[in-house]
Amino acid sequence: MRCLALDIGGTKIASAIVVNGKVEQRQQISTPQEDVVNAMHLSLAEILKQYEGQFDYVAVASTGIINNGVLTALNPKNLGGLDKFPLKDSIAKHTSKPIGLLNDVQAAAYAEYRSEAASVQNLAFITVSTGVGGGIILERRLLTEPNGVAGHIGHTLADPNGPVCGCGRVGCVEAVAAGRAIEAVSSQWNPPCSPKQAFELFRAGDEKATALIARSAKAIANLIADLVIGLDIQKVVVGGSVGLAEGYLPLVQQYLAEIPVVYHCQLAQARYGQDAGLLGAAWWTADNLKQTTELK
Ligand SMILES: [Zn+2]
Repeated sequence: MRCLALDIGGTKIASAIVVNGKVEQRQQISTPQEDVVNAMHLSLAEILKQYEGQFDYVAVASTGIINNGVLTALNPKNLGGLDKFPLKDSIAKHTSKPIGLLNDVQAAAYAEYRSEAASVQNLAFITVSTGVGGGIILERRLLTEPNGVAGHIGHTLADPNGPVCGCGRVGCVEAVAAGRAIEAVSSQWNPPCSPKQAFELFRAGDEKATALIARSAKAIANLIADLVIGLDIQKVVVGGSVGLAEGYLPLVQQYLAEIPVVYHCQLAQARYGQDAGLLGAAWWTADNLKQTTELK
């Protein structure tokens, strides 16, 4: 089965044919920033035309929440005018093939899950990047129903006295642990530092940088503990620019080790990079279609 996979982000739209877990004919264009609704319809039409006749189904990973084929977000302003964009209908105008859609981090979670040994049936993926996102697989099923919200674990509580999060809630994990949260503090230092520079200082043993990175890692360790005790998660895979920064995961591991053993689980770094969304969406859609026998 050949899949036309799309990965729609805030700045880029990647497209490719995915066959047997391999990404071929990858292309990338900029996400429309002006007259966004019309421009997005046109971009999708263009992509569908380019790959015409080369695929059996379409799989889309997108930023935001995919609620029954329609795009939205916890903070719709982040979508720059694409809130309530009818993603599925826009694609269906140009193809009669089956279409699967899911959030990009949910897709990345599924890609990680699919590369696991059969013994892992409950897995969570956490990306610590500009924001904190996630995806949850329970009893071998990726949680996406009924509203596409599942896995937005960056918006669980880290600190009731913490900063206000972009979603409107006070003290979310994202508001404490994300790259943006690190930057909010490090940009106030003298001299101001980027998150990357804060990590360099942390690795060099600087006290204030260590405290800042530790605050993030501790929030993620507690999030992992919550997932394990609430959902019996067996393995957590961590990705994202902060999550994969040298020295970060060992620190998360260290804080997790300070919590009682019943909260522990396997921890690993994400293995898929820029193709995680494309691959995960392709695999997830194929697995779902097999179940519903739309495709054999
Ligand atoms: Zn939040």
